[in-house]
Amino acid sequence: MSHKTPANHEQYHHLWQDVLLSMKGICNNDQMVALESLTPQVVNPTSWVLLAPNKFAQKEIEKTLLPVLQMTLHNKGVTKVELKATDNPDLFNTPAPGKKSGGATASFESNLNPDYRFENFVTAPSNNEAFAAAERVSGKTFFADSNPLFIYGGTGLGKSHLMHAAGNALRRHGRNAVMYMTGEQFVNEFLAALAGKTQKAFSNRLRNVDALLVDDVQFLGGKDQSQAEFFHTFNELIDKKRQIILTCDRYPKEIEGLEARLKSRFGAGLTVSVRAPEPETRYAILKSKAKEQHFNLPDDVAFFIAENINSNVRDLEGALKKVIFQCQVIKGDTEATIAITKAALYDQLQIQKNQSNVDNIQKVVAQYHSISIGDLLSASRRKNLADPRMMAMALTRELTDMSLKSIAESFHRKDHSTVLNAIENVEERRKNDLRFREEYETVKAIITG
Ligand code: ADP
Ligand code: MG
Repeated sequence: MSHKTPANHEQYHHLWQDVLLSMKGICNNDQMVALESLTPQVVNPTSWVLLAPNKFAQKEIEKTLLPVLQMTLHNKGVTKVELKATDNPDLFNTPAPGKKSGGATASFESNLNPDYRFENFVTAPSNNEAFAAAERVSGKTFFADSNPLFIYGGTGLGKSHLMHAAGNALRRHGRNAVMYMTGEQFVNEFLAALAGKTQKAFSNRLRNVDALLVDDVQFLGGKDQSQAEFFHTFNELIDKKRQIILTCDRYPKEIEGLEARLKSRFGAGLTVSVRAPEPETRYAILKSKAKEQHFNLPDDVAFFIAENINSNVRDLEGALKKVIFQCQVIKGDTEATIAITKAALYDQLQIQKNQSNVDNIQKVVAQYHSISIGDLLSASRRKNLADPRMMAMALTRELTDMSLKSIAESFHRKDHSTVLNAIENVEERRKNDLRFREEYETVKAIITG
């Protein structure tokens, strides 16, 4: 046989990443999420155990993906592949949707994720308003004043988690017919219904639920026909006193391309936000996620990750996953240390570091020229704004290792040639314009301290 046998642990990691990449072409989003939740454990180079975080993920993969997964791994020299679920009874407290555990509640097939629950959501000042609101609307009692519940905030901050948690709780409280869908699914299914002349069935399906949960509703922006359908569904459910929960990446009034009547209805119930987590919250989330996965995360390591990954919870989870993979698979059950963590998160830390550097450069340049960051990043070509902007771009190029493309992104520019022009222009003026050269050096000295 001409199979390649992986020679070291690093290669296992790459091999698994390769497998995920080749599966991407044949899997839908949900399947990819399930696949990415797997932790490979290398028994020996040709025999692997794939550890699913719970039985639901295991089932999902068994149902449709296992043979392809086995074949893909087989082609890479891993001839024996076993799929197992982590033995963590805590994860299975909530009955799976559609299971025959709750009498009448078994009749409605819901596509809620049972792993997203209130119990495993870490509450903090940044999210406790949204948490309380989601809990309030998913009990036994219906509150007309909180309908719809509109949760908004940046990406990766727990909106979908709270929405699924509310859905799961609604079902536990006997409001069983919970329909969860993304804004994108709504649009796609509606258009398919239009094309197949099955609008009536589509409308009926949505208008007879106990609760309708639409995730990332900003997707409706600019989709006029879908908005009209949604408007009628929305009104009918409100009239029938059925709960509606919506999530969005921005405040209702700021959704581009959304009809005014929908904007005002979206904001007519209870509107709450989720914000980026504070460092203490990031620490608590890491500890909680590690515990859920039976991974011993030392305090100093948790602290290090919480301090250094400050974008959102999804990135935080991604970072933890990398550390766990490094310790369990690559190093073969080693205790996590800061050194291992630094190596595992090298790329992420670099991006984060660059971002804080460029933020600082922009701040210093803007302050020095007495303009706002908004002006510095604006499209205005006025000289008193364009000059500082060019200077900030050139300084970023000189003081960071960022590519032209990333610099362009950090300055909200589509095209990296803008950055290139700025750098050339600044270079020229530093040669020929004494005052400009002095300014440039002064600002640089402030930045580098
Ligand atoms: P959003 O929908 O806002 O983009 P998600 O709900 O998908 O974000 O959250 C991203 C990931 O972070 C999910 O895996 C979720 O479980 C996790 N997460 C977010 N906030 C929290 C929290 N407060 N406690 C526990 N996990 C969280
Ligand atoms: Mg989401």
